[in-house]
Amino acid sequence: MDILTHALSGIATGTVIVSFSDKKHKGKLGLIGLAGFGAVLPDLDAISLWSKFDSILGSFLGLKNSGQEIYFSKFWYSHHGFLHSLMAGVIIALLSFFLIFVLKRRLKMFSFLDLLQNLKNQKIYVFSFIAGFIIHLIEDMPTPSCVWGGVNFLWPSKIYVGGAGDIWWWNNYDIFLIVISVIGLNGIVHVTSKFIRINTRKITAVVFFLGVVLSLYQIKTRDFDFNYTGHTPKYQQFEIKSKKIQEKILGEKLYNLMLEFDNKIPVNF
Ligand SMILES: [Zn+2]
Repeated sequence: MDILTHALSGIATGTVIVSFSDKKHKGKLGLIGLAGFGAVLPDLDAISLWSKFDSILGSFLGLKNSGQEIYFSKFWYSHHGFLHSLMAGVIIALLSFFLIFVLKRRLKMFSFLDLLQNLKNQKIYVFSFIAGFIIHLIEDMPTPSCVWGGVNFLWPSKIYVGGAGDIWWWNNYDIFLIVISVIGLNGIVHVTSKFIRINTRKITAVVFFLGVVLSLYQIKTRDFDFNYTGHTPKYQQFEIKSKKIQEKILGEKLYNLMLEFDNKIPVNF
């Protein structure tokens, strides 16, 4: 799925997580930001498609394969490999937490108990990052098999999960709009809670759940099989078909607005 929808899905997840936090304003923004960041990070492995990857990183690391080959292979460090696993999310979250903890102590001595206590106090930040990370992995599952056959969700297991081809890689405008709606509605809930006593936890969770159900419905009712294994000569045809489906779902007016937005942003969307 496209990186923008991934990022916003992380933020939508964050709008629920903050309801369970008694942190101040800055802390809550941090939680939402971390969920959004976690939801972007798995696609960092797309760096191997960078035009200067081979000449800079490839030669520095002494890699035998080109960035393009790495991306479209099934090495543990290929796209949809390790970085698209639950384990990666947990390792990155805990390592980052540890590094920040050490830096905050200005590299002074600390006890293991001190570290654990700190983790207990800040666990919601770690959780928020991992939740965003997991949302990304789940969102990639209904995309085509391509060369990977899904995402390596349970790494170090070699099993790849997903690759269903229910949706195209991008231009899933309907899902994007659902995600934006969840963020907007939960934003309204949080603002309203400043004036009226409401059960923020329950309402934001229900809004998020409804967003998930609606997205699932949209994904499963595309009425077209986008799946392919390896590479496909029908790439352009699939892309056109996906846009046709969007036009049918959204109606001409909204579709054209989304298309205009799509053409303006510099990422695949
Ligand atoms: Zn991804």
